[in-house]
Amino acid sequence: MPELSQRVGNFTDSVIRRMTRISNQYGAINLSQGFPDFDPPKEIMDALAKAAYEGPHQYSITYGAQNFREALAAKQGKAIHRIIDPNTEIVVTCGGTEAMMCAMMTICNPGDKVMVFSPFYENYGADAILSGAEPIYIPLVPPEYEFDIRLVEQGFRDGAKAIIVCNPSNPCGKVFREEELVAIGKLAVQYDAFVVTDEVYEHMVYAPNRHICMASLPGMYGHTITCNSLSKTYSITGWRLGYLIGPAYVIEAAKKVHDFLTVGAAAPLQEAATVGLKYSEDYYEKLLETYTEKRNYFLAGLDRIGLKHNVPQGTYFVLIDISEFLELPQFRGFTDLEFCEWMIKEIGVAAVPGSSFFREEVNNLIRLHFAREKETLDEALGRLEKLKELK
Ligand code: GLN
Repeated sequence: MPELSQRVGNFTDSVIRRMTRISNQYGAINLSQGFPDFDPPKEIMDALAKAAYEGPHQYSITYGAQNFREALAAKQGKAIHRIIDPNTEIVVTCGGTEAMMCAMMTICNPGDKVMVFSPFYENYGADAILSGAEPIYIPLVPPEYEFDIRLVEQGFRDGAKAIIVCNPSNPCGKVFREEELVAIGKLAVQYDAFVVTDEVYEHMVYAPNRHICMASLPGMYGHTITCNSLSKTYSITGWRLGYLIGPAYVIEAAKKVHDFLTVGAAAPLQEAATVGLKYSEDYYEKLLETYTEKRNYFLAGLDRIGLKHNVPQGTYFVLIDISEFLELPQFRGFTDLEFCEWMIKEIGVAAVPGSSFFREEVNNLIRLHFAREKETLDEALGRLEKLKELK
């Protein structure tokens, strides 16, 4: 057999997406891969129906349809406190996933070091390998998921080209405080490096926490590549609409990378989603209210069952500590992955094993999400109750 590239041997398929497939196979309630089970706003669906008949059906401009980029520049300009030039400072991509990959390929040479907080969203590992970068992991230490800024400085001193900041952070729900962002940003400027942010959960930040865009901080726009997506904000994860925002010289190069990777995001979907980008603040307030309710409801349910968990400051994920179960004779020697497989088959709820997010040896956490209708959360909690009987 002809040989494959070495790079494909260096990472596995996504465990998050694999859990969805196993969940579907057994008909479990899927709280593994994070996506909502409810529809996007009706206006967006209506706009899609209209686009089906009126177009566009052909390629948009490779780096994004003009009206989409203009609406995006207006919306994100408010978050970044700056006038964003839709022509030179934005690339529209196929989801946040391509945005991150595109950012990495735009700034990294093979062998360049990139700092990644651990736990991390699992794509970053593959992004690093595919772009030739070498990750340096900075631990976010539970229970508060704090980090030691001296390790970040050490990473920059060792020549790191960039640091990836997922804010709010998947899977631990950390929302970086202003002083943390300022400290990271100052070092990035001092060492002339980039901050690549992943802000796809920007609208799911629970009071009293506040989302601050790294790019909005004084002096940071020139050092920040903001990656983001419409998936979570408008409940359209399957539409694969993401984007990068950054200084013009970065975006000019990123446009080339994106062009040859995918040519462009789907034109009719950009047309329809533009309606969402033009929503007023009310929409985002309502979205946050919905997710705040879901979070409180789900966490209260976990408490009733007696499952130990973190309290996410943002995102729709919660990490559950399964140590007490792993100590039971029937689970002796189980990995967290095996525990999740068991849960899918025997409990009927799918989770993601924590080990797929941590650099450290972590076997006692699983991640669930609560982007589900209340009835589904009830059903899931009812099933999780069966875990109680094991104790
Ligand atoms: N961010 C989502 C999660 O962590 C999944 C995104 C994806 O699968 N592309 O579950």
